[in-house]
Amino acid sequence: MMIKPTAVRKGFIGPILAKVAEGGFRIKAMKLTRLSLEDAKKFYAVHAGRPFYGELTEFMASGPIVAAILEKENAVQAWRDFIGATNPAEAAEGTIRALYGTDMGQNAVHGSDSDENAAIESAFFFSQIERY
Ligand code: ADP
Ligand code: MG
Repeated sequence: MMIKPTAVRKGFIGPILAKVAEGGFRIKAMKLTRLSLEDAKKFYAVHAGRPFYGELTEFMASGPIVAAILEKENAVQAWRDFIGATNPAEAAEGTIRALYGTDMGQNAVHGSDSDENAAIESAFFFSQIERY
């Protein structure tokens, strides 16, 4: 997962990590870092060609983010359910995107969409010795 730049800027790292714990997710790795535009383009390569790709990658490179590997039974789907719909305006009450998201682009957090992509995204940020 990632806590996106707007949520970091607004001081929501603490509240979001409290929700992570509340949801029963175990933090296996975590760091505060910043993506270069090149990194952001690589991370979101699957969306290259979509109309929002430029806006998304510029936004994700606009400031520090928190990246983390979360562990839980069926973690990918559990996390997606827990954070709510992509558009915070449509996210269920009490979900992280409903609570801390601003709009469709600035929706507070990222979640992987499959176990395969979760492994690729984890490797993007963390080496083996950074995982506990
Ligand atoms: P999700 O993050 O829920 O898996 P997607 O993979 O479809 O959603 O999109 C990746 C990210 O791109 C979203 O989290 C959001 O920040 C941004 N995004 C998606 N659709 C739009 C859109 N129509 N306009 C602006 N940004 C968007
Ligand atoms: Mg996605």
